Formats: sequence, structure tokens, C-alpha cells
Amino acid sequence: MKINRCIDDLAESYLFAEIAQRTEKFAAENPDKKIIKMGIGDVTLPLAPVVVDAMKAAADEMLDRETFKGYPSYEGYEFLRSAISGYYRSFGVDVGADEIFVNDGAKSDCGNIGDIFSLDSTVLVTDPVYPVYVDANMMAGRRIVYARGTKENAFCAMPDESVHADIINLCSPNNPTGAAYTYEQLEKWVEYALKNDAVILYDSAYEAFISDGKPRSIFAVKGARECAIEFCSLSKTAGFTGMRCGYTVIPKELCRDGHNIGKLWYRRQSTKFNGVSYPVQRAAEAVFTPEGQRQTRENIKYYKRNAKLITDTFDRLNYSYTGGTNSPYIWVECPNAMSSWEYFDYLLKKANVVATPGEGFGECGKGYMRFTSFAAYEATAEAMERILALENDI
Ligand code: PLP
Repeated sequence: MKINRCIDDLAESYLFAEIAQRTEKFAAENPDKKIIKMGIGDVTLPLAPVVVDAMKAAADEMLDRETFKGYPSYEGYEFLRSAISGYYRSFGVDVGADEIFVNDGAKSDCGNIGDIFSLDSTVLVTDPVYPVYVDANMMAGRRIVYARGTKENAFCAMPDESVHADIINLCSPNNPTGAAYTYEQLEKWVEYALKNDAVILYDSAYEAFISDGKPRSIFAVKGARECAIEFCSLSKTAGFTGMRCGYTVIPKELCRDGHNIGKLWYRRQSTKFNGVSYPVQRAAEAVFTPEGQRQTRENIKYYKRNAKLITDTFDRLNYSYTGGTNSPYIWVECPNAMSSWEYFDYLLKKANVVATPGEGFGECGKGYMRFTSFAAYEATAEAMERILALENDI
């Protein structure tokens, strides 16, 4: 018996372990210091009341023989797919309910979609990168090429016409950089994908944070229906990280190599996936009601208020950064040419603040730090005051 040797090639997932270890050591040596965590990648506000009410009502239905539900359909209940389709329409994008596949979160589908593509495919990912795209393809043994995100392109990596790719992973607004693509930039990616007969895998998990008119879906761009799949999630939109519900959109006309991609994905899902629970799908449906939208947007406003505190601080310090406007992430260039880990240790020691070293997200993350806006407002304000107080120290 042999294991999949490609797993040996995965980088050790040491980033968060190393952060925890350094933080714990500092806390043990300095028990009087109050450490503030600005690296949290999970939401912290509770679910919206409409969501919980819908889940409770659905749980009650499971008590009654007449309304009890067994296995859900592979692609999700029609009521939820219609609600998602209506949501897309609310920002001017036409996506049919029959083009939507409900799932247990975007991470699963971002990783699993590879099942329907050849192992010979070349995968393009942008750097810095959400590690799932890289690791999932490395496990499958695919060749990976990188498009570099740098200060010069404001961390919006663009295609290199001389490089061929079959699969293109894009994430906008981006984790970790917080940068979001414009219509014109996405048009260039669509053009490149069509020229290469490639498929764009577009992760829009943070679309609900967009507030400056940038595209909230790849399908807002002409030609995308012929070359893109979109992954979205209720995790950050509605605080569903512990509920587990997302959706994948595959346009009807998307075909490659003589196959309809939506049909292939349905075949894959029906083999390895048995759907999302009824109460969670009812809770998800509630997110897309007018009251659900109102309540969930309140939480996003809260995080965005934190993000503004963070960007105001770095503006005052004159640090270079991206993100914060359309994203819960703020991606900051470390001052004084410090490395990510040097700045990490400096912040921990001098401000008792923990953020995430950018080099954990790829080569292009070296010398950067990711701050998140998911901490409590008061803690965020205090962390920023402490960082501001170091203005003359650096
Ligand atoms: N995509 C990106 C870019 C993310 O940052 C995350 C979560 O952090 C996910 C997908 C995963 O989301 P889900 O909770 O829906 O699996």
C-alpha cells in the first residue's frame, strides 16, 4: 500500500501554529500584558435573529411526520436556489436557480472542483494566495504557475499572455490582501481565459463587503458565462462559519472538452456529497429576505467600522496598505523594511498586538502583515491606539 506522495510536497501548515506558539510564550513571560488579536479570520458576531428563527421553525418541521425531511437534493432545495438567484438579480446579475449548487461552504467546492478537471491541467493562482487553491492542486499533483500581486499592481495580479493556464483561481475581494478587481481588470482575465480555453474559478466569498461599486460577481463581466465558475459563501456574508452553507454557480452554457461542466459537477456531487441539512438551508434562505439582508448587513457594517479604524491608523502613520474598503482584511507593508516575522515580534512585544505574517500566504507576502476587522470594536480601537503610540519608536 502506498500513500499519495503529492501530500509530501505540501508545505507544512506551520503559520498559525507558529503564531500561537510565539503568542503563548510571550503571554507566559508577560502575564500582566493584555494581548489583542488582530489576526482573527473567523467572524465573531452572532447570527442574525431571522436566521435563528428560520432554523428553529425548520427544526420543528423535522418533529412532524408530515413535514419531516430526509436526504436533501444534491444541488440544494429549490427555495434556497431561487432566493440566491433573486439575490444576484438585486445587484444586476442574471443567474438561474438551475445554475446554482448549494454546498457546505466555499472551501469544499474550491478544493473539490478539481475532481472534474484533468490532472494534466496547469493551474494559475495569484500570489499572495488563499492556501486552499494551492494545496488542493498540489494534492492532485497538478502543475501550478503564479501571477504575482505586488505593491506596483496594488495586489491585483494580472495575466501574463506568454503563460498558458487551463484553470485560473481568482479571489476578489481578496484574502489575504483585501484588494478587489475592477470591471476592466476582470474583463482582461475573461479575455485571457477565453483565449486559453481555460476556466476561471472565481471565489467571491467576500462580495458582501464591496462598497465602492466594484464587481460583486464575475458574471457581471461580459463573456464570463463562457469561461467561469463562481464560489460564494454565507460564512462572511451572514456569519455562517459555524453553520456551513455556501453556493457554486455554473452557467448552463459552460462547456469544455465536449462536456457540459454543470452536468459533470452534478455527477461529481451526486457521487461524493449528500447535501446540506434542511434547517441550515432554511436559515440560509432567511438571509436573502429583506429583513435578513437588513440584519446581516448590520454585522458587516460593524466589521467595516473596525476596518476604517485600522485604515485610518495606517493613513496617519503613512504606511502603505491595500484592503479595508471592500474587505475585512487590511494588508500592510511592514515599516522600516522589517520582515513579516520581525514586524510580528515587534508588534507583539511593543503593542501586545497579534496579526498574521504575510509570508504565510506566499512569496509575494514577504514583508507584509494581514490585519483583520473581526475583533470587537473596543479591542480594535485599543490596538490601533497602541500602534499609533509607537509612531516615533520606529
Ligand atoms: N474562500 C476564501 C477566500 C476564504 O477566505 C474562506 C474562508 O476564510 C473561504 C473561501 C471558505 O469559506 P467557507 O467557510 O464557506 O468554507
